[in-house]
Amino acid sequence: MIVVAAGSGTRLGRPEPKALVPLMDRPLLSWTLDSLASLSFAGRVIAAPPGRIDEVRKLAGEGAKVVEGGATRSESVRRAFQACGVGGSTIVCIHDAARPFVTAAETEEILAAAEETGAAIAATPVSDTIKNVQENRITGTVDRSTLWAAATPQAFRAEILAHALESGADTTDEAALCEALGIPVTVVAVSRMGFKITTPEDLQIAEAILRNRR
Ligand code: C5P
Repeated sequence: MIVVAAGSGTRLGRPEPKALVPLMDRPLLSWTLDSLASLSFAGRVIAAPPGRIDEVRKLAGEGAKVVEGGATRSESVRRAFQACGVGGSTIVCIHDAARPFVTAAETEEILAAAEETGAAIAATPVSDTIKNVQENRITGTVDRSTLWAAATPQAFRAEILAHALESGADTTDEAALCEALGIPVTVVAVSRMGFKITTPEDLQIAEAILRNRR
């Protein structure tokens, strides 16, 4: 299991890196790790924000490897994957630290799909009407019937991920690397609760969800 947590989170407008931003009483990353804690993985690697390895090590607990992430998400995944040291048909599961409400059940579904097909990702069908816009003017409406929003977890056979990462391309997810090589990727429909915390409003929504749970 790889958790990428090295992003700066500029859009949150906070001084600390996104994964270390407080959510209720503890850092965002800690909630995300908790959501995955009931799953047993042969190993866990976390890509930490530069200079914050010790903090992340404390949050991750014993048994997890912590590596310094890179300047881009792809670079963070590359470094973490190297630290995994796995190959062949071993399944590698990549998850964004910024998605604290991932569930163990959904992750298991994605892992099972990856075991079967080699590559599988979490995604949700797009529910909004999507417009092309230039300078605040609509230039078109996209047919949403085949549109899905890609999320994480994303799981791959290690040999497939290794091949996909070889290109050195910088993409916003790993599925895109497979697509570029013509490698089929299975989509597993997940709940929108697996949303990614990006903006200050997302953080407020996350806090409301947690308060409601207590
Ligand atoms: O920037 P964005 O929100 O799309 O990032 C998605 C995930 O990738 C986050 O969990 C973030 O911490 C991680 N990331 C990373 N290294 C970077 C940029 C993003 O690990 N350089």
